[in-house]
Amino acid sequence: MKAFTLLEERGTAGMDVFAKISGHEQVVFCNDPHTGLKAIIAIHNTTLGPALGGCRMLPYANIDEAMNDVLRLSKGMTYKCAAADVDFGGGKSVILGDPLTDKSPEMFRAFGQFVESLKGRFYTGTDMGTTPEDFVHASKETRCIVGIPEEYGGSGDSSVPTSLGVIYGIKATNKAVWGDDALQGRTYAIQGLGKVGFKVAERLLEEGADVFVTDINEAAIELLNQKAKGLPGSVRVVKGDEIYAVDADVFVPCALGGILNDHTIGMLKVKAVAGSSNNQLEREEHGGDLWRRGILYAPDYIVNAGGLIQVADELYGPNKQRVLTKTKAIYTSLLEVYKHSEDRSICTAEAADLFCEQRIEARKNRSSFFTADQKPKWNVKR
Ligand code: NAD
Repeated sequence: MKAFTLLEERGTAGMDVFAKISGHEQVVFCNDPHTGLKAIIAIHNTTLGPALGGCRMLPYANIDEAMNDVLRLSKGMTYKCAAADVDFGGGKSVILGDPLTDKSPEMFRAFGQFVESLKGRFYTGTDMGTTPEDFVHASKETRCIVGIPEEYGGSGDSSVPTSLGVIYGIKATNKAVWGDDALQGRTYAIQGLGKVGFKVAERLLEEGADVFVTDINEAAIELLNQKAKGLPGSVRVVKGDEIYAVDADVFVPCALGGILNDHTIGMLKVKAVAGSSNNQLEREEHGGDLWRRGILYAPDYIVNAGGLIQVADELYGPNKQRVLTKTKAIYTSLLEVYKHSEDRSICTAEAADLFCEQRIEARKNRSSFFTADQKPKWNVKR
């Protein structure tokens, strides 16, 4: 097993590499011929704490594609961790390969060894193409793993806090638009009734709200219709793109990324967007488009941080009450972002980035209050 960092690169190619990673602290290439592991770990910023970010396994077409993905995603984690106030910085890792054919327990143990070699600078867990079980193998080699199954000491289904965070995100958004954060008395258009969207729909129906829903999975729609029978709210089912044009107050995307784009934004009749989907804006400028049309966009990485809050909390030992309290804070963070946006006349997506950058800036150059041996210990439970 051999790890080398880009700091060891030489010559002209090395110069290009440094230009590419100029916003990042460290990038590590991991190569283990014995298990076939080829992985990249990117640490973007550790001002707020050790880097945290999931591990994707995808059959990337080439190294550039993998590199671009890990650099972009690790930077996103810096902002997401700052917004969620979890004492972690931003990182991410990618394994190059097909998760259906190229995985083995040994590969994840080797990956765990590379993570351990970073001596606590990087914590990781599951993402696209990897499962909590893969990280049970990795966790035999390192303590820097989060999100493993409950029976191994993990914190369980992350969609529970994520959906709760979406509810608090909707409440803050209602408050900003209508001056009152009640869920009832308004109509919601929910795209996707998976692990998160279904729980959000159920909660809205319990509160007596009316929902339009769409999902390509008929079984999920059928199940929601069954549940709705005993609840005060009402369900109307629509097909595919019809969800963008329904006469609702809030659009709640809980399925796909890139759904706020040149094609869909003009169709929206809602006054606000607040949902769990990652990367909702197809391009950065779509945040400005929504703002100019008077649609309040709740930045996705703030709204959907409940799952991140839960896995970050694992390092202090599981405590559902603490996760709940931090998830509720999504409400106040969003109101702060909306205020930034209003005060500076900038769109909410830009205001969210600014809000996070200010949090990071405020910690820079501050030495810790604790001496080294008094510092809160990571991984107290394992
Ligand atoms: P999921 O896979 O359980 O659910 C997604 C649902 O969307 C499925 O029911 C699927 O059938 C449906 N869907 C797929 N394509 C669709 C389409 N074209 N139109 C309508 N519905 C469609 O995923 P999830 O865990 O509920 O996550 C939903 C979104 O939230 C994803 O973008 C995910 O990245 C994001 N997110 C989830 C979490 C979490 O804790 N689960 C955390 C942060 C962000």
